[in-house]
Amino acid sequence: MHYLYRAMKSCQEILKTYWGFDQFRPLQEDIIQSVIAGCDTLALLPTGGGKSICYQVPGMQMEGICLVISPLIALMKDQVENLNKRGIKAMAIYSGMTRKEIDIKLDNCVYGDYKFLYLSPERLETDLFKERVQRMNVNLIAVDEAHCISQWGYDFRPSYLTIAELRLLLPAVPMLALTATATEHVRKDIVAHLEFKQEQVFVQSFERDNLAYIVQKEDNKLDRILKILRKVQGSGIIYSRNRRKTKELSDFLNRNEIKADFYHAGLDQKTRNQRQEDWMTNKTRIIVSTNAFGMGIDKPDVRVVIHDEFTDSLEAYYQEAGRAGRDGQKAYAVLLYNESDKLTSAERIKKNTIDLAQVKAVYQALSSYLQLAPGAGQGASFTFDLATFCESYRMHASEVYLALKELEREGHIAVSESVFMPSRIHFVMKGKELYEFCLQQARLDPIIKMLLRSYEGIFDTYCTLRESELAKRLEVPLQEVTRQLKYLNDIGIVSYYPEMESSVVTYLLPRADARYLKIDAAGLKQRNQAMQERLNAVVNYATAGNMCRSRMLLAYFNEDKEAPCGQCDYCIAMRKKQHDEHDFDTVKNRIIEILRQKNQTLAEVVKQCEPHSETESISAIRWLMDKGAIQHAEHNKLALADKSV
Ligand code: ADP
Repeated sequence: MHYLYRAMKSCQEILKTYWGFDQFRPLQEDIIQSVIAGCDTLALLPTGGGKSICYQVPGMQMEGICLVISPLIALMKDQVENLNKRGIKAMAIYSGMTRKEIDIKLDNCVYGDYKFLYLSPERLETDLFKERVQRMNVNLIAVDEAHCISQWGYDFRPSYLTIAELRLLLPAVPMLALTATATEHVRKDIVAHLEFKQEQVFVQSFERDNLAYIVQKEDNKLDRILKILRKVQGSGIIYSRNRRKTKELSDFLNRNEIKADFYHAGLDQKTRNQRQEDWMTNKTRIIVSTNAFGMGIDKPDVRVVIHDEFTDSLEAYYQEAGRAGRDGQKAYAVLLYNESDKLTSAERIKKNTIDLAQVKAVYQALSSYLQLAPGAGQGASFTFDLATFCESYRMHASEVYLALKELEREGHIAVSESVFMPSRIHFVMKGKELYEFCLQQARLDPIIKMLLRSYEGIFDTYCTLRESELAKRLEVPLQEVTRQLKYLNDIGIVSYYPEMESSVVTYLLPRADARYLKIDAAGLKQRNQAMQERLNAVVNYATAGNMCRSRMLLAYFNEDKEAPCGQCDYCIAMRKKQHDEHDFDTVKNRIIEILRQKNQTLAEVVKQCEPHSETESISAIRWLMDKGAIQHAEHNKLALADKSV
């Protein structure tokens, strides 16, 4: 079979040639060998463990192309860029691209020598993809963030359920599922939903022995954050739940001479990139962010990650906290909470649960927002702005978001996350025709020539375009460049898409009458319940206070660990307690010793107990009196009750 084909280079050589690494990390090689042997494989490696190498190296070693299914467009773009930098041909296809654009890209995968094709899962269902993929020489299907397939997981994505359909199209191709978090339940779901033929499972311990997990109950969180950041030097992330708070907290830190900035999905792409870059290069020490920050970020020297509220699940907590200390040096993961947070979280869960009627109402509103008549719309995609939609129909964003997810789950629609698409251009007119056009339209000749000179491959595929750069080179105003590009598009010389940022909704089925919409009500109830249980686990982690934090987290991921970590707040408190108890015993023995010689006053006993403090000595005397071991004697002295002790 083609995927058993072995290139000349060994995996080790590929790792060295393309990535410059001398050896594999634990488990990477086992996973790679399993995949190369053609086995369906599940790999659980903690964040930063090096999952990408596990499919990229075998993808390179085997002949053909590796499909990578990934839920996050930003991550895909990063990966593609990363591979391209290493001289490996890779591309990504996701919602937001036009059909024509996808068409050209898929063609390149069939005929070009591309090694990696990254795809959003909702792309798998399109006829265009199904038809082309059968003509590709696929060597491996890698499913990144595979926990998204489980409705019991914390990040369920309905479109993941369709991945198994690839089996029909590519029956002989092995699958590699990768994830950084998966409880036993979720693991089983992955293996079942991806229809694994073998159950090759590789699990690396989730223990992070350089990371100290600390939980603090704190009413004055600001003060506490300041104290932590003054004590622990170096780069840090503070996760906060709402956008307004990220700004407030960052302002507060700056006022206190800690250089900070804030980050959330409501900021435009350019600002987000800039802030991320400033933090990556340590121009900003602390980034205060919602959970929009961090995916795919690989900063090794983060010394502290603070959460100022509960996360929705321990999976999310482990992932976010795990961004600290990737360099293996000591780092801290601190969770701050107070009594009222429990209530806030319970309310949040309530807000995050929806019922059947709400799902139907959102479907109805969406269909009229997109002006779709009943029976119409199958296969059609629409750009969609959640904020405008919510405003028009006076609906809560969280309610709409959840309802859309339910509708996705039931296969009515597919929704892509909000995605930034840079401007793109492709020449439609070619050869002699184009030459003649330039002769006739001398005014447009410079821009056409400049495009042809600047963008290699512009006849074969869509190229990313920077209008401002073009304007600079042509020495004309930016508006003029945009105007000319639009004109060239309108008259069919080029196909040009200006940049945009939005989500895309695709109707997978014709628009139905909301009253008869097929929704699994029992499933909806169970999912609401699972959400509640996930939050309970977080609250329990924070408040139980009877076990090593690291052990608690590991136990949640079904990993037994006997030895306590010795560095979390629980372990430290235990050590202090033992230490105090030891000290207490020493003082008690000393007092007995002193009084055995003769009766003495309290002041005399305390004096002789030094260097133990007065408080320590007095509390030991009180303890001994309570137990009847010493008593008052005449002349205000203390005496041993029974001199024989
Ligand atoms: P994950 O997806 O598991 O979070 P990545 O694949 O992004 O992790 O890898 C994390 C980091 O570890 C990257 O910087 C990667 O280059 C590095 N890395 C992966 N494998 C190795 C290896 N064998 N030797 C050295 N560095 C590695």
